Amino acid sequence: MTSPDNSPALSQRRQQEELPAELSSLLLPWFERHRRELPWREDKNPYHVWVSEIMLQQTRIETVKGYYRRFLERLPEVGALSEVPEEELLKLWEGLGYYSRAKNLQKAARLIVEQGGFPQTFEGWKQLPGVGEYTAGAVASLCFGERVPAVDGNVLRIAARLTGSRKNVLLPDVKRQFTARLKEILPDEAGAFNEAMMELGETVCLPGVPLCGDCPLRRVCTAFREGCPQELPVREKQQTRRREEKTVLLLQAGQRFAIEKRPEKGLLSGLYGFPCLEGTLTPNEAAVYLDGQGAPVLSVAPAGHRKHLFTHVQWEMEGVHAVLAEEWGAFVWAQPEEIEALYPLPTAFRGFQRLLKGFTGP
Ligand code: SF4
Repeated sequence: MTSPDNSPALSQRRQQEELPAELSSLLLPWFERHRRELPWREDKNPYHVWVSEIMLQQTRIETVKGYYRRFLERLPEVGALSEVPEEELLKLWEGLGYYSRAKNLQKAARLIVEQGGFPQTFEGWKQLPGVGEYTAGAVASLCFGERVPAVDGNVLRIAARLTGSRKNVLLPDVKRQFTARLKEILPDEAGAFNEAMMELGETVCLPGVPLCGDCPLRRVCTAFREGCPQELPVREKQQTRRREEKTVLLLQAGQRFAIEKRPEKGLLSGLYGFPCLEGTLTPNEAAVYLDGQGAPVLSVAPAGHRKHLFTHVQWEMEGVHAVLAEEWGAFVWAQPEEIEALYPLPTAFRGFQRLLKGFTGP
């Protein structure tokens, strides 16, 4: 009987899925020539690399540049990050989204200060809040020269295309397999190799249509050879987002609007937002509710529909603009300019925030 291990088809596919041994010898000289100047590449300071890597998760490089500069101007070293009031930290992060990243940065900064310095190894970095395998690999290899890979979506895409693998790269097992293969072929200059892979993924082996004509790996790339780079990688989402309906109340008294600090736990915790009610209410239903709570409502009007996608949840929001006779309730009342300048308001509310100036008239 033929065991599955001896199947010719399987061994051929396994061979195909090996990453080419020439990967680093082709990639590193290319990186030398095409390396972009980025603010966080000016030195190998672990604080700089760590902050930039956290900001770059889920966010485009061009967006991160301004945030990174302002963040380091205000918090130039880890001690300053460990001590900054949370509200100020979240204000610095406002618009970048995924605010737990900022909170975890601060938790980790406090641990680093307590421990008397930055961890020096991949394992040490992985113990810090908010630091996953990718970030730990990036900082340990770039700043401390450890021979570890840093595998993110860019690297998985390149690896899937190079090998022609049609396995679902969103599965942890598939990521583990690619990580193990990368470890085998990692050169001594692991930091430069990891950076070069990121660079290739961001500038040449793009998610949609890759620029294979400019790619130093063309000669060893299975997807290029088979003419199918755009079909790879296979990314099959296993989960769907939970849908939540909300009514967002834009309560106005004179030139001011009501905002409130969100609860300490849960989505967008610790940030500010407009008062919300569960479920979608019409303006009249919202008026009845507000009356019942004792709010001095003068008029109500619809303020449009907005949708916001989080990783696991989708908010469907119906806006209601309610003009009150006077400030009411335990809210913070502020003018649109003050809200913009002083309070960290997440992107989910931005569409409604933009309406406020129009409500206060010329
Ligand atoms: S040849 Fe094309 S598909 Fe292959 S790694 Fe280069 S850019 Fe990506």
